[in-house]
Amino acid sequence: MVVEIISVGTEILMGNIVNTNAQYLAQRLAHLGLDCHFQTVVGDNPARIKYALDVAFSRADAVIMTGGLGPTKDDLTKEMLMDYFGKRPKVDETVLNFLEQRAKARGFDKLSDGMRKQAVVPADSLILYNHHGTAPGCVMERDGKICILLPGPPHEMQPMFEECCELYLNGKSDKVLVSIIIKCLSKHDAPISIVGESPVADRLAELLDGTNPTVATYAKEDGCLIRVTAAAKTHDDALKLLEPVVDKCRERIGEQYIRYVKED
Ligand code: ATP
Ligand code: MG
Repeated sequence: MVVEIISVGTEILMGNIVNTNAQYLAQRLAHLGLDCHFQTVVGDNPARIKYALDVAFSRADAVIMTGGLGPTKDDLTKEMLMDYFGKRPKVDETVLNFLEQRAKARGFDKLSDGMRKQAVVPADSLILYNHHGTAPGCVMERDGKICILLPGPPHEMQPMFEECCELYLNGKSDKVLVSIIIKCLSKHDAPISIVGESPVADRLAELLDGTNPTVATYAKEDGCLIRVTAAAKTHDDALKLLEPVVDKCRERIGEQYIRYVKED
């Protein structure tokens, strides 16, 4: 299954906040063995959110969308998506009760319209309750296309993803990805002939052309990183694929120029 990430929020587009949600989700998807080929950022604008969805669904089976689920006027992702998936809006009594109790506890005798709209969820969909904030998420499916909708605040989105979405997505994936990182010494600790990405890449040579496992180098200030990644049905099978390739990398670089080797 191919998944895309769409981050909704004008403040991300304007550079006011950093899109850490996409970074987090991309890492989690890689761990789940799900391919993610594109990430999109779009402002709080229904026409452009729809356009982003059309493009994403032309290339992917599932979209994870974050942001725009809250109580304010610019929070319109959910309304737009219910329309997109042809889902009837309905009031979720569990969310409504929770919001009313919460308002009472804070000294309000009545819910504001903005807060109330968070209890409106799509019918015939999986509702993801939010134990760390107010806006629930949801999973909408139609004609084999899936959209997982999550709130923007990272401290709400991350536990919701780990508690509900990983299990859901795991069932859709038939493989896991496992990576081993080999960290080389930096220029302070190793001779110039082995320092930096290009001498390391020269030594790895044809190992860099492998497909499973893949071998990739990353230049870092404190020494080059080599990431070896394998896809397999189980974690143990992936480790079996990784072992001979990691051994070859160690030989080519030279054990004395490696700082550490660990699972990523
Ligand atoms: P809220 O109920 O807080 O309005 P929401 O689901 O409507 O939540 P947004 O209004 O889009 O989400 O964003 C709320 C806050 O969450 C932002 O101000 C920002 O702090 C954080 N946030 C949103 N999107 C991202 C993102 N992609 N990466 C990191 N932080 C984000
Ligand atoms: Mg909001």
